[in-house]
Amino acid sequence: METITHFIGGNRVDTQSGRYADVFNPALGVAIARVALGSADEVAAAVASAKAAFPAWSNTPPLARARVLFNYLHLMRQHADKFAELLTREHGKTFADAQGEVARGIEVVEFAVGIPQLLKGEFSDQIARGIDACSMRQPLGVIAGITPFNFPAMVPMWMFPIALACGNTFILKPSERDPSPSLLHAELLKQAGLPDGVFNVVQGDKLAVDALLDHPDVQAISFVGSTPIAEYIYSRGTACGKRVQALGGAKNHMVVMPDADMEMAVDALTGAAYGSAGERCMAISVAVAVGDAADKLVAALAQRTRALKINDGMAAGAEMGPVVSAAAKKRIESLIGQGVEEGATLVVDGRGYKVPGREAGYFVGGTLFDHVTADMTIYKEEIFGPVLCVLRAPDVATAVELVNKHEYGNGVAVFTRDGGVAREFVRQIQVGMVGVNIPLPVPMAFHSFGGWKRSLFGDHHVYGPEGVRFYTRVKAVMQRWPDSQSSGAEFAFPQMK
Ligand code: NAD
Repeated sequence: METITHFIGGNRVDTQSGRYADVFNPALGVAIARVALGSADEVAAAVASAKAAFPAWSNTPPLARARVLFNYLHLMRQHADKFAELLTREHGKTFADAQGEVARGIEVVEFAVGIPQLLKGEFSDQIARGIDACSMRQPLGVIAGITPFNFPAMVPMWMFPIALACGNTFILKPSERDPSPSLLHAELLKQAGLPDGVFNVVQGDKLAVDALLDHPDVQAISFVGSTPIAEYIYSRGTACGKRVQALGGAKNHMVVMPDADMEMAVDALTGAAYGSAGERCMAISVAVAVGDAADKLVAALAQRTRALKINDGMAAGAEMGPVVSAAAKKRIESLIGQGVEEGATLVVDGRGYKVPGREAGYFVGGTLFDHVTADMTIYKEEIFGPVLCVLRAPDVATAVELVNKHEYGNGVAVFTRDGGVAREFVRQIQVGMVGVNIPLPVPMAFHSFGGWKRSLFGDHHVYGPEGVRFYTRVKAVMQRWPDSQSSGAEFAFPQMK
């Protein structure tokens, strides 16, 4: 069986820890590889390598760094389908969905190659007689990225293209469930001309993560994953004096007004709830039907949910693949059971779903609940599976209040034809990313991505301009040149003269 290793100092390196985890093909339900689980010593070796590479890389002119990323961009385009195949094999998502993931990751590289422009500082001439001031952004040093299973190619690309373009060196700790794309990134970056040690991969679990959090030479942590772990990363990382951005879980609502284009809303909900088997942090898992929208909506959704084409992600025409693991399937099915026990109406039941020829695969059928209420577990918890809950609200104010009371605030959407309702919704909603007749409002690479409330710990959103700010710090410089007119020492606080 193939062993998926670390990548340190420009080379693949196996673990000396003797610890490995199985990597599965979720459509088949069989182990296809094993991944090394790194030790604290292996993390220390990666940090030492990244630290040693930092002086030369941070002193490389931004345009020269951008040229390396241009080469990598070209290689990413060439290898996009290879990435997509890896994603389908280890994650389970459909090949078309995997291609979309890679394309969205590539957009961040396209943004990052503009780094000479993005790093331009500010300059003020003559802030006092004979004195000029400027501010410049400089890289931090060694950055660690810790990423989730659900976007194993794209989420790391939210981080490292910008971190590297800014002049930092980087250690990626990918999810142990689908670790292969991280090694392909490392190899393509090397092929693109990135010096050894600038980008490293340490495979592993909590042990490797804790070693990164505690290591004094890691300056900043970008994390994406579930809320309990995000909160832990933020508190432990900041307690160790690091800059941390930690993006967490979600429960994204779509509010459907009675005047919405119902066909458009149903199409949007079906794709956003069941695409990638609901394993997206921007998946819509709650539909809030306002007024008399509910009956029409549920009837149409039931039909669409029953008709979903569920199969191995490589099969032609598959709309939804399996969930990532046997444990995820068990957890999702148990939450569906809990929804029934708590009194929600189970309109379509996806439990026990089997795909012919793939009987051992981790499939869960599309599941639809109606008459869900805010006190139910299936409403409160992130299920992270193909389960859509419909709640009913008498008016838009009640719908907005419901969304605003939820602990998560990642994404939200409103479907309506009324511009006034949409405008007020956008202004009042306590959520970081808002779609108006757009179900998955994932910002483009030149904006930034991030939720509010318990969907993000830290101050900075990820990628885009916020990414550049996160991976750099500002230095303010004031300068004057001797003009032989020294007026002697000054003891009062300096002011403009
Ligand atoms: P996860 O929190 O289990 O794992 C994320 C990372 O943390 C992995 O690299 C994992 O190895 C590590 N980790 C897990 N347990 C740990 C522990 N106890 N201590 C230290 N490190 C630990 O998340 P996941 O299941 O891989 O991904 C799904 C979650 O990620 C969902 O909650 C989803 O909403 C969220 N997510 C959020 C965003 C966002 O942008 N907000 C994007 C993608 C995914």
